[in-house]
Amino acid sequence: MPADLADRLAVLADGAQYDLCAQSGRPMPDGASSSSAAPSDAGSSDGRIASATAGTRPERRYRHGDVTRHIQRISGPRGPTTQLRVLQTNACAKDCFYCPFRAGRNFRREAFTPDELARLTDGLHRAGRIQALFLSSGVVGHDDHSMAQIVATGEILRRRYRYSGYLHLKMMPGASDAAIEAALTVADRVSVNLEAPTAAHLARLTSTKDLAADLLAPLRRVKRIVDARRLRRRNVVTGRDEPVRVSRTTQFVVGPAGESDRDLLGVTQRLYRELGLSCVYYSAFRPVPDTPLDGHAPEDPRRERRLYQADFLLRDYGWSADELPMTGERLDLDADPKLAWARAHPDHFPVEVNRAGRDALLRVPGIGPIAADRVIAARREGRLRSPDQLGRLGVDARALDLVTVDGRRAAAQLSLGI
Ligand code: SF4
Repeated sequence: MPADLADRLAVLADGAQYDLCAQSGRPMPDGASSSSAAPSDAGSSDGRIASATAGTRPERRYRHGDVTRHIQRISGPRGPTTQLRVLQTNACAKDCFYCPFRAGRNFRREAFTPDELARLTDGLHRAGRIQALFLSSGVVGHDDHSMAQIVATGEILRRRYRYSGYLHLKMMPGASDAAIEAALTVADRVSVNLEAPTAAHLARLTSTKDLAADLLAPLRRVKRIVDARRLRRRNVVTGRDEPVRVSRTTQFVVGPAGESDRDLLGVTQRLYRELGLSCVYYSAFRPVPDTPLDGHAPEDPRRERRLYQADFLLRDYGWSADELPMTGERLDLDADPKLAWARAHPDHFPVEVNRAGRDALLRVPGIGPIAADRVIAARREGRLRSPDQLGRLGVDARALDLVTVDGRRAAAQLSLGI
């Protein structure tokens, strides 16, 4: 790779770390891994990511131009995958108060042309180094310029190089309908970062974005197009035009706008129910030097974890936002929200595993969607009689205090060695 290209890749791939929407391993309740129960390319449990090798060998030093450090292993919708996450440019005309790329901040600005980035991605894909590209960008130039650059990169990849890998494109604030439609013809996933749950909260994070016009309107436009089922794409293997389904995600910056967990999770529920989002990401705020929020305290990373756990209850467990246990509009930092709910509702327990419906099983800490489905399937074969059977079905040991098996407390059966 030419030295100039490698230098820019180092700058623009490092810059892309600030976007969570392409990470893996969201923390879940009930001990399950996100890849097994949540088909998403989601955020990691500790808010960081593992590169293809750095995750196992953090001490490794990289040669100049070695792209390995920019390649991440993630749990994608198609299973475990390797991904290049990069910015088209880190130049930006917006002023987001938390962002290292905000206008006027003094640091090295770089950009790829669509041709350069498509060629680079195609080379890595053909070499078997990556299976996915996540492409984001700062916002520069006239209306839609940055979105056009992103779309052009995607189009060159799909049409010139017949790229068959996964493609996640970030939609720029205020993207036009035409640009959105063009992006949807090449992307597998698109995302629009709302950053804050309400316009009032967003105003504490930027003076250059309008929540309704710049962020929610593109998400609604994406939904309308996806719902109309008009999207088709040439399958590079069969050569036929086939229908494609494009998923969409968003991200919130957690902390500096003073939003409550109730604010975030109420909006999250609406995003899942009304706009059909696949995933919502939460990024605990960490101050960046030389930004207006430089002196603001970092957000407690436990809050990000609790939000992800509550989010799973909304998305995958069928809970509603107003059921989530809160104290003063915030989740308990020290307890998994599902466990906190169980403690507050002793009347709900114990649950008899031979009789309980799926919803009742899912209220038990230690029983996730997969284990609940296995318990129900196993009951069709015969009555469950021992806690050992539950363990084999994927029920976590934490559940045993809260269930009965064939009329007897599971934990007591265990302690008696039955
Ligand atoms: S739009 Fe805001 S968050 Fe995005 S790159 Fe520009 S300053 Fe950063």
